[in-house]
Formats: sequence, C-alpha cells, structure tokens
Amino acid sequence: MKLKEKFKNLRAVPLICDASMAEYTTYKTGGAAQVLALPQNINQIKDLVNFADAEKINWRVMGFGSNILAGGGGIEGVVCCLKNLKGMEIRNNLLISASGEAFDNVIASAVNLGLEGLENLSGIPGSVGGAVFMNAGAYGSETFDNIISVLAMDLRGNIKTLDKTFLKPYYRRVEGLENCIILSARWQLRQAKNIETLKARRLEILRRRTQKQPLEYPSAGSVFKRPKDNFASALIDKCGLKGLRSGGAMVSEKHAGFIINYDNASPADIKNLIEEVQKKVFEKTGVKLELEQILWGKF
Ligand SMILES: Cc1cc2nc3c(=O)[nH]c(=O)nc-3n(C[C@H](O)[C@H](O)[C@H](O)COP(=O)(O)OP(=O)(O)OC[C@H]3O[C@@H](n4cnc5c(N)ncnc54)[C@H](O)[C@@H]3O)c2cc1C
Repeated sequence: MKLKEKFKNLRAVPLICDASMAEYTTYKTGGAAQVLALPQNINQIKDLVNFADAEKINWRVMGFGSNILAGGGGIEGVVCCLKNLKGMEIRNNLLISASGEAFDNVIASAVNLGLEGLENLSGIPGSVGGAVFMNAGAYGSETFDNIISVLAMDLRGNIKTLDKTFLKPYYRRVEGLENCIILSARWQLRQAKNIETLKARRLEILRRRTQKQPLEYPSAGSVFKRPKDNFASALIDKCGLKGLRSGGAMVSEKHAGFIINYDNASPADIKNLIEEVQKKVFEKTGVKLELEQILWGKF
C-alpha cells in the first residue's frame, strides 16, 4: 500500500502529500516531503507517532525550518511540522511555551513584562521547539541558560517531563533530547531592575542583527559551527570567499557565515557551495568547518 493510502486512516491529523519543503523552510528551496503532517495538539502528535511506529514509517520533526536544507530529491516518510502547536503562559517569573510558538514572540512577551534572561536571543527566527533542540544561542546567551524543564514525547508516544538536571546542553545540541519530540519548555526568568533598559537591550540586539545579517535574502542563518578559538565567518572572509557563487547560491557579502538563496538556488547549489567553502577554508587555513545546518533527504 502506498504511504498516502496508509495515511487515509489518520483523518484527524492535517496532512499534505508531496509537500514542497521550499514552503516550509527559510532557505525557500527544497524537494517534496512524501507526507507533511501539521498536528494542532498533543493527541494528534501521539496518534501520528503511534501510527508511524506501528507501520514502521520513517518520520522527522521540524519547527520553522530555519536551520534545515531539504534535498531536491525529496524526503521519504513523514515530516511532522509543529508550527501549529501553540500556547504560552507567563506566571510570576515562570514562562511556559508550546513548541510551535515563534521563539522571538515568546521573548518579546517576556521582555514586555519586564522578565529578563532571554533578551540576547531576540531575533532568532525559529520555533520554541527548534530553539530548545538546537540550544540556539547568540550574543553570549543560550536557550538552555534559564530552562528548568522540557516536556517531550518519545517514539512510542509516551510523554515525560525532562528536568534540566537530566539534560546536557552543549554548543547547538542537547544530550538527552535525541529521538524525542519536544512539546513545550519552561523557563525560570528574573524580574529586571529596569524594564526600559531591558527593552532597549532587545531593540539593540534586533538592530545589530539587521545591520550584520543578510535578512533581505532567504537563508538558514550561520552555515557552520564556530570553530575553537575562531569564527567561521572570519575564516571564510580571510579566504576571500565572500560573494562566491554556485548556481543561485552565494556566500553573503554582508556576513560570510551565511549562504543566501540569491537567485532561485536549488538545494544542490547550496550544498555544493557549502562543500566548496569547506574545501577552500581547509586548504588555506587547515580548519575543518563543521556544519551547523541540518541536511535532510536526497540531493
Ligand atoms: C536569519 C537567521 C538567523 C539565525 N540566527 C541564529 C542565531 O543567532 N543563533 C542560532 O542558534 N541559530 C540561528 N539561526 C538558526 C535557526 O533559527 C535556529 O537553529 C532555530 O533554533 C531553529 O528553529 P526551527 O524551529 O526553525 O527548527 P528547524 O529548522 O525546523 O529544525 C532544526 C532542528 O531541530 C529539530 N526540531 C525542531 N523542532 C523540534 C521539536 N519540537 N522536537 C524535536 N526536535 C525538533 C529538527 O528535527 C531539526 O533537527 C538563524 C537562522 C536564520 C534564518
């Protein structure tokens, strides 16, 4: 039986067959996901996970696709996109947010209530689930700095609260969150001494991002992880690679750490450019740039 036919049994979960990943990722390019599921609540996610488990169907989970490059040859199985899993609550200094909320909206809400601890992460364009999974970071702060627990579902549909003490956050990854679906996260924030200073800090971070990053083009942020004692963008710039192109993909002139979809780039254009940058930087500096972005499917 074809995958699409099998999924007819899962009527309650919104599904799109052959969904173009160009519409679900910030690179705005990519092949089709065989099935894209857009669950709206935890029960629907549970149904989907149990169904995929019983039918032995491969599946992946995503948020806003702001760190994913989807191959032009498509993605087999199910992609479960949590962008419709909404809900946020702020009580005293405790912030609880569902995975599908925009991380930046959550940060804005906290800042407007005078709660500090997340403001340096302003402007990261992912979902809460994506930020937690990646331990997204910027300007000296990381998503996990003030997290107290994460609510997650395992591959059998069991839901558990994972206390921070059982999770090990590292640079752009968290040990203990592999193979699970993050449903929501809790942060313990602090009352700022001066709310106007806090709001100004957020605006300053947003201003710096607009000034330094090529936000006018589709991208998925920094392509590479920060090498030890160095910066990927500085190395790429030093090697004279700003403006380097492969098809419609280009190393940004504004920020060498970004590859932009300059002119209808195919996923292969972007992947080829990533590999060319890695090769040239290694030849000239001896540094192996490690990919931060996540490649999915066939290229
Ligand atoms: C312009 C721009 C600027 C950026 N700046 C920064 C920055 O300053 N710092 C930074 O760290 N990143 C930055 N990024 C990258 C990206 O925004 C972050 O990594 C973000 O946290 C990804 O969130 P997402 O929802 O888009 O995740 P996706 O791209 O959808 O997914 C990323 C990974 O997280 C997993 N995932 C997503 N949701 C869940 C979930 N609910 N449960 C389990 N796993 C999940 C996916 O399987 C995938 O492995 C930037 C990107 C862009 C486009």
